[in-house]
Amino acid sequence: MRMLTKAPRGTNDIIPAESVKWRYIEDVTGKICKSYGFKEIRTPLFEHTELFERGVGDTTDVVQKEMYTFNDKGGRSITLRPEGTAGAARAYLERNLYAEAQPTKLYYNISCYRYEKPQAGRLREFHQFGAECYGAKGPAVDAEMIMLAENVLTELKIPGIKLNINSIGCPTCRAEYNRALREYFSGCYDELCDTCKSRYEKNPLRILDCKSPVCKKLCEGAPMLLDYICEECSEHFEGLKKYLDASHVPYNVDPTIVRGLDYYTKTVFEFKTTLEGTQGTVCGGGRYDGLIEEIGGSPTPAIGFAMGMERILLAMEAAGSLPELDENPDLFVATIGGEADIFSMNFIKNLRQEGISAARDYLDRSLKAQMKYADKLGARFSLVLGETEVNEKRAKLKNMTTGETKEIDLCDIAKAIKEEL
Ligand code: ATP
Ligand code: MG
Repeated sequence: MRMLTKAPRGTNDIIPAESVKWRYIEDVTGKICKSYGFKEIRTPLFEHTELFERGVGDTTDVVQKEMYTFNDKGGRSITLRPEGTAGAARAYLERNLYAEAQPTKLYYNISCYRYEKPQAGRLREFHQFGAECYGAKGPAVDAEMIMLAENVLTELKIPGIKLNINSIGCPTCRAEYNRALREYFSGCYDELCDTCKSRYEKNPLRILDCKSPVCKKLCEGAPMLLDYICEECSEHFEGLKKYLDASHVPYNVDPTIVRGLDYYTKTVFEFKTTLEGTQGTVCGGGRYDGLIEEIGGSPTPAIGFAMGMERILLAMEAAGSLPELDENPDLFVATIGGEADIFSMNFIKNLRQEGISAARDYLDRSLKAQMKYADKLGARFSLVLGETEVNEKRAKLKNMTTGETKEIDLCDIAKAIKEEL
């Protein structure tokens, strides 16, 4: 029976005390996206497995180890989305978004699914805020994308934010680099983990992103892609840096960033926080000029990022960055006697229509118990309706914080509360 009252490992309920925080964060991200001209897209929670194999890349940890994949009753292989980019890219093609004014700038707030070992800031169902831009190849959009992410992190007051950028080149420069990498790793091939042994042939760059301590150690001293990038990629990277410098966005060039997904090209970046216990990386992104073609579209440049919202929230809580958020009622209406009880129903209904959030008792509490309940709910004002109040259409409005009372006509209650809120 334990399974009935215990949620699957690595999942989390967002109970009311938490959901206000999520809504706050989503409001902030939504507003900032709007100011950058990004519009929201909502795609399905599951897609054909092939989309992620292609769109995330079958040499990545995500595809090789972490996906929730199953056959549906029709025998099709389905995967719960481990990230948002592939679905957005599929929709861009399927829904002809490329036919609209380019580039297409999208954002989303989604749940994602990865079979990982749960720990602080690492869940099996987690949430991402992400943004994607299709159809622009110059570094200006890379810079704006980074600034959008930075703007969100700053607005949410995430402490100790550090931006690292790198370029991982294009297929042209990577061919030569892959040769250099293979040569480097050929000296220690036998010590690589099994996954990396297969990466050695298919995509040696991936070895640099392996989490196994042995492979990590072997990567020290490996050649850096930044030393191999071609002229076009190098110009792109310089362009990005110029834009960031001109916009006063501090960054650090970190030639070791590779990023988890396969189709990244040129710019890659991540934001880390210095806070402990929150899984350092709160945002990862990069250009993926190869993806749209990979999933069947015509070659289209693209760039995106995603933030891990659980990590964002952990960091905000640790730093006390959340504003005061409550959903307490504006008014509690207590009643004495049956007549007032009936009357209060329609009275409260009208107040709600005037924009006041109002609560009442449902449990036949005594007046004293009703007031205690009002206190527990954190109501800002309260009102007691008895026979006299109902007949005279006037009552005492009590400010629950100051204890002050004011006698007011019932038809003016909403106005009086609004004035004081
Ligand atoms: P990590 O190296 O921490 O596993 P990743 O490279 O797998 O991260 P991405 O695929 O780039 O992560 O996803 C973008 C962001 O989503 C990450 O920077 C992180 O904040 C968040 N994220 C990734 N996996 C999880 C998870 N299992 N639980 C919570 N957040 C996650
Ligand atoms: Mg991961």
